[in-house]
Amino acid sequence: MVITEPRSWKDPSIYVKKIHVEESILDLDYTQEILDRANLPYTVIADRSDPQGIAGEYPDNLVQGKHHLLLCKNRGHFFKPCPGTKEYRCCDYQVLNIGMGCPMDCVYCILQAYLNKPWLTFFVNTEDLLQEMEKAFLADPDLFFRIGTGEFTDSMALDRFTRLSSRLVEFMAKQRQAVLELKTKSAVIDNLKNLDHNGRTVVAWSLNSPEIMQKEEIRTATLDERLNGAAQCAKWGYKLAFHFDPIIDHPGWEDGYAKTIKKLFKTVPAENIVWISLGALRYLPPLKTIGTNRFSGSRIFYQEFIEGLDNKKRYFRPRRVTLYKHIYNLLKKYAEQSTCIYFCMESDEIWQEVMGYVPEEKGGIPAMLDRTVNI
Ligand code: SF4
Repeated sequence: MVITEPRSWKDPSIYVKKIHVEESILDLDYTQEILDRANLPYTVIADRSDPQGIAGEYPDNLVQGKHHLLLCKNRGHFFKPCPGTKEYRCCDYQVLNIGMGCPMDCVYCILQAYLNKPWLTFFVNTEDLLQEMEKAFLADPDLFFRIGTGEFTDSMALDRFTRLSSRLVEFMAKQRQAVLELKTKSAVIDNLKNLDHNGRTVVAWSLNSPEIMQKEEIRTATLDERLNGAAQCAKWGYKLAFHFDPIIDHPGWEDGYAKTIKKLFKTVPAENIVWISLGALRYLPPLKTIGTNRFSGSRIFYQEFIEGLDNKKRYFRPRRVTLYKHIYNLLKKYAEQSTCIYFCMESDEIWQEVMGYVPEEKGGIPAMLDRTVNI
């Protein structure tokens, strides 16, 4: 039987076909709510055991594994600093670990190399999650926290089932020293409607050239779907952010990125955009093996790369500068003065060459970002 995939992946949770529930959390109200909303077959499994029925070896079984969602308890920490590296300028982000894996499938996704289980995982003990954040805020009352949930998963991909976004937005609305960024490649925004967000949640989309989005970002929302979602969030009063990451060198890249940027500013009010990040493709060497095996038609790993100070492969510096200058200049043409355009994990030399200054001149990247949202 040939299974035809739908034309729109606005909501990638439709890829999930089966749920596995850890025994000890089955009776939680939240687990039951998720099961009701998902309306999918589920099996109950022993705590800390693996879902069954996913044939093959990791990572070859990822296509199949992404049909499966495990609901379980997080027995570790929910909240920790983003593992930036000391060699490059990073933005001091805090990661809120809501789950692992993603129903979408980007050729360059670092999770393919970072994780070793093919299924998706969502942690249902959200009361613990909120308590841990409260504790962290109390322990550091003078610190301003920029928090993201999209480190090991996509922030919104499973939100139709979980509605976690609403809980987080309402929790964050009451915080005076923190802002939450929900970052996605989907267009699942319904649960953000009618919330009293108090400007404490930034809704963010990763963007790329239309060709890269179509060829290398499988089961993601289209550019129009992402931007229309962003425009709707702006109408609901949310601040927005965009991430051009990874920027990929490909034939026609100048026009491709120009098209995306023009459409972005045509669709979305510039004054709602608090930050835009730029980051050229970088990866740890094992990702190339996985990516080229899983996506044999992709050419993105067949370029010239050097190994950076963080052991990640990157384009040569002059090439990165060429890519960045083109995109930065286009963004500067349309963006508001107040929008912080920054590099994710680049050196001072690149900042100077492309933007004409180094972050320290403006207090450092964390301070530059904090100023845009710290109301
Ligand atoms: S959307 Fe993000 S988390 Fe999901 S596959 Fe793509 S890069 Fe990975």
